[in-house]
Amino acid sequence: MALTSPWRADFPGMLALDSESQTYLDSAATAQKPQAVLDALLAYYAGGAANVHRAQHLPGERATRAFEDTRDKAARWLNAASAEEIVFTRGATESLNLLAYGLEHLFSAGDEIVISAAEHHANLLPWQQLAARKALRLVVLPLTTAGDIDLPQATTLIGARTRLLAVSQLSNVLGRWQPLESLIQLARDQGALTVVDGAQAIVHGRQDMQALGCDFYACSSHKLYGPDGVGLLYGRRSALQCLQHWQFGGEMVQQANYHAATFRHAPLGLEAGTPPVSGVIALGATLDYLDSLDADAVSAHEAALHQMLLAGLQRYEDVRLLGEPQTALACFTIDGIHSGDLAHLLTEQGIAVRVGHHCAMPLLQRLGVNGAIRVSLGLYNDESDLQRFFAALDNALELLR
Ligand code: PMP
Repeated sequence: MALTSPWRADFPGMLALDSESQTYLDSAATAQKPQAVLDALLAYYAGGAANVHRAQHLPGERATRAFEDTRDKAARWLNAASAEEIVFTRGATESLNLLAYGLEHLFSAGDEIVISAAEHHANLLPWQQLAARKALRLVVLPLTTAGDIDLPQATTLIGARTRLLAVSQLSNVLGRWQPLESLIQLARDQGALTVVDGAQAIVHGRQDMQALGCDFYACSSHKLYGPDGVGLLYGRRSALQCLQHWQFGGEMVQQANYHAATFRHAPLGLEAGTPPVSGVIALGATLDYLDSLDADAVSAHEAALHQMLLAGLQRYEDVRLLGEPQTALACFTIDGIHSGDLAHLLTEQGIAVRVGHHCAMPLLQRLGVNGAIRVSLGLYNDESDLQRFFAALDNALELLR
């Protein structure tokens, strides 16, 4: 029997794309949203919008309560020690930039920041630019052929000069789960701070901040089936205290005169200006929706579909997979065929996949490819999507060969 997704009907975007004969296989870029999230957005606006943390009037209090409810839910979702450890940002990228600015004062020339060769630009460029500003050394951990951070090499490269380790938990290109516990332990043994880019990982299972033991964890709502324009930054309480304020404006101030100001502690001290109120409230609805699902059934569905994707790709002799993906995506090239040409023909047949360098140019250079096609799966995808993808791939290859 064909593998279907019991959750597809919850996502109006998928149904709309179905009716346009579009096969959406790009959830690693952004995910479709369940009806519950659309309802929450509409309910907030239709019920009377208001700013948060400012006004005492009823709509303001209501918005503030719903906004802070999401902080509580996110803290429970991530098993943070308290809601005070959750900072709302505009996305994973902003969370990581906040860290690179907020921690800058801790570094001196010659200190080392350690990242991996698999990082998305969002977890490379903020550190690269910080290194340039402060004359630091950026150390890049090499990968195994499967795409894992090479632990024996990491053991020698994380050392006494390491002040910070920043790695992604699940690569958006290689789809590998990195050996985070060991890496975090290596960094902590050296007294270094640890930052995890969880933008992809958080989508495929709940993460436990207290068990993981990292200092900071960054992710985006829009990949997690929530609205865009909202990000989460988890910071262990003691680590948040190391951060200097980085954006200045409304509601992050304790006292201000024309020449000086004092600022609130995190999280509100790191949330200058009007936050994405509707998005944060709708992220709360997203977490409720995800909580209502049987997590084991979702994982089993994603794993079965991913196996089908890999098995289907392996039928083509000249397909070259980038790494050995474990979860929800596969990036590949086909010998002798330009990925852009192939993507064009797939697009013409209504297949929505991503092509290019996937915001990881140095990684693709290291793998010796200019661009690759990425197929990525969400919990709403099913076997029929893969069948349409492979039929379109066959057609395209027939034309191109
Ligand atoms: N890290 C990884 C691994 C990602 O895949 C992405 C998004 N492609 C990001 C960070 C940045 O997320 P955003 O664009 O939502 O800020």
